[in-house]
Amino acid sequence: MALNVSFEFFPPKTDEAEQTLWKAIRRLEPLNPSFVSVTYGAGGSTRERTHATVKRIVEETRLKPAAHLTCVGATKDEVDAVIRDYWDAGVRHIVALRGDMPDMGAYAPTPGGYGSTPELIEGIRAIGAFEVSVSCYPEKHPDTPTLDADIDLLKRKIDAGATRAITQFAFDTDAHIRFLERARRLGVKVPVVPGIMPTTNFKGIQRMAARCGASVPMWLRERFEGLDDDLETRKLIAATVAAEQVERLQAIGFDNFHFYTLNQADLTYAICRILGIKPGDKPLEAAA
Ligand code: FAD
Repeated sequence: MALNVSFEFFPPKTDEAEQTLWKAIRRLEPLNPSFVSVTYGAGGSTRERTHATVKRIVEETRLKPAAHLTCVGATKDEVDAVIRDYWDAGVRHIVALRGDMPDMGAYAPTPGGYGSTPELIEGIRAIGAFEVSVSCYPEKHPDTPTLDADIDLLKRKIDAGATRAITQFAFDTDAHIRFLERARRLGVKVPVVPGIMPTTNFKGIQRMAARCGASVPMWLRERFEGLDDDLETRKLIAATVAAEQVERLQAIGFDNFHFYTLNQADLTYAICRILGIKPGDKPLEAAA
């Protein structure tokens, strides 16, 4: 079965970071991803930078960009203005999210803002015929009482117009499989796209995983153990771990994968090559 990939980037803060980002975009572009997405900082803190990055992707590449957008830190009018700007810039895909508070504290809806992701999706769809992707959580979102409550919310996001769910990264591949089975049983029909996190920074992974409720399996700890000063081996392990995960998920029918690139192309590029994805394999239109 043919594999489709998409790549996620974050907007750069400095000129140097901008160069790193664009080097990554240029290296991954020939792999013809279905789309590339650009994140939106917690509390809307990167609004201008996200917009500028997405606009530059539209203007200077053949890639289809998706702009992440959250409900946090802006009124409905302000969020609507951002959505209209995207439409005017030729952007047709938004990743719609609740988002987190700027200090990552307990979530509270912004006064006068969109109160939830389904509401935001309705707002987006009222402005233009955007494709809308949303998040989902194989190991459950930390704010959710049960996985079924999370899946119920996912269904409401789909009813509001979302057509794709991208998962939070989960190193426990069985969690992805169980989640998909449960979501399908509870009536989720849209594609569920596993989010793949290729990274050599094991300490960073542990911090991120703790924040978003993802587990870090013992076998993964053991693979990275004692390699703090050995970047080369960590790179090989990271590429192998991610490729093994994709191959296992592909074997049971997943055929779309979203890579959290962290603006570093090399690992994602190597993983795609292991998976048999080569530059120019298919025209961009066919990758959609
Ligand atoms: P939802 O799926 O809408 O909700 C998650 C849980 O929060 C719900 O199950 C519910 O229990 C609870 N909840 C929902 N609404 C409320 C409410 N009004 N009051 C209290 N609790 C509520 N973050 C960013 O800041 N920028 C990004 O660009 C970004 N991109 C992401 C991309 C993906 C693919 C994923 C998986 C996550 C991303 N995140 C991003 C992280 C995300 O914003 C956080 O996980 C956030 O805590 C939840 O947002 P959501 O859209 O996933 O929430």
